[in-house]
Amino acid sequence: MADIAALAAALDGIELSSDRALLRQKSRDFYWYSPILKKQLDGKSGDLYARPKDEAEVLRILAACRAARVPVTTRGGGTGNYGQCVPLEGGVILDMTAMAKPIAITDGVVDVECGMKMIDLDLWARDQGWELKLWPSTKRTATIGGFVAGGGAGVGGIAHGTMRERGNLVGARVATMQDPPVVLDLEGDDASPVNRTYGTTGIMTRIRLPLTPAQDWRDIAIGFEKFTDASAFALALSFADGIPKKMCGVFDSQLPPFFRGIADSVPAGQSLVLTMVAPSGLRALRDLAREHNGTFLAEQSTVEAERDPDKTPFYEYCWNHTTLQVLKKDRGVSYLQCRFPFEDTLAAVEAVRIPFRDEVWMHTECVRFGGRITMSALPVIRWTSEARIYEIIAAFEAAGLGIANPHVLTIEEGSNYRRVPGDQLGFKQRTDPLGLLNPGKMRDFSPVETAA
Ligand code: FAD
Repeated sequence: MADIAALAAALDGIELSSDRALLRQKSRDFYWYSPILKKQLDGKSGDLYARPKDEAEVLRILAACRAARVPVTTRGGGTGNYGQCVPLEGGVILDMTAMAKPIAITDGVVDVECGMKMIDLDLWARDQGWELKLWPSTKRTATIGGFVAGGGAGVGGIAHGTMRERGNLVGARVATMQDPPVVLDLEGDDASPVNRTYGTTGIMTRIRLPLTPAQDWRDIAIGFEKFTDASAFALALSFADGIPKKMCGVFDSQLPPFFRGIADSVPAGQSLVLTMVAPSGLRALRDLAREHNGTFLAEQSTVEAERDPDKTPFYEYCWNHTTLQVLKKDRGVSYLQCRFPFEDTLAAVEAVRIPFRDEVWMHTECVRFGGRITMSALPVIRWTSEARIYEIIAAFEAAGLGIANPHVLTIEEGSNYRRVPGDQLGFKQRTDPLGLLNPGKMRDFSPVETAA
């Protein structure tokens, strides 16, 4: 058992706390969306909270933790939904939110400290004519480090793919758990081992990301009598290269009544498409909607809505916010994360929507992977039991869907491919040989040095 008081003494001068209530609060994320993870993770807690203000303090914390064999679990906004931030073996909670400065934009690439909130970063870039290519629907609370380490898909995916797309992560500065801890400055493919590895391979202190020219995005809500028309419209919009867009989500008719703020605009029984389109594409969007029997229901400026705490930008009904909007009114649901095939996408959506319609409320998001368009799904699911969710997963997989299971703790099991890509495992063996970084989250890792 590590001596936490001695560790705290060794970290004198750094912002620390061992207040139990704070530790409990900072040891949680949104894992409770999954009744399975809730059972496994409720009550887990770190032993010491540390909030470094710069890279030197990060290195001091890592060195002291390595010496004392104390695990370190990093945290940004704490909005992950796989329990990524939950310390399974106690230890130090490393809160990165004090390292939140933008450094510079050079040739369209932003260099930023990892604890910066994505909304602040986007607004700062926007003042210089740029915007983020990608953001999660939690943009108003998530940090950029947490998005790269724990998320990586979302708004912008219809145009730019995911964070895993080569070029979407230019580079990162990464503090390691070697003896002694060092900072690596990684570029391009060399930075991939920190991409969606839940802080198990190193602590990112700074990130470099490509930006895209800022647009005055319009949030548009379009209603459809038939879900199949909504779905066909969304896919057609994804392929319409003449219409600049940032997002397109499709919702079966059970879902819009949960969307406080726009529910009253959606006629009962209608399916809904929520999209973000640049002003230059609005006329073409109307023509496309008419072709698919869609009716414009509501419109607002995305940027104005996100700057106003009382307003809801439409992306806060999309991606995993759909589940949150339903959970606000009905705690008896959970969700899945799925990916449809590239071919016959709409038929694949119907193949799982129709038979499960009483318990699975379909919600899809249009997205590119490797330059090809398809739909991801984050359907809301009436929760009955663990056995039932695995029956649904099996049926979805049999229909050709990839499942990124959100009811599991490890990176591998939560991925479509059930393994970590590239050399992430080998990288961790080099940068964290004792396995002290967020232990238990990379399934295939075993310590290469003994902790004695
Ligand atoms: P945290 O939850 O604090 O951390 C996430 C992981 O990253 C943890 O494993 C943590 O250890 C690690 N980490 C954090 N900072 C660092 C760092 N500096 N160095 C190394 N590791 C670090 N995700 C999406 O991708 N797209 C979405 O659209 C989306 N929508 C969501 C909607 C809701 C309502 C909720 C609850 C979650 C959603 N998520 C989504 C998941 C999550 O919000 C995002 O991935 C978000 O970007 C995480 O950022 P964060 O700062 O909250 O990270």
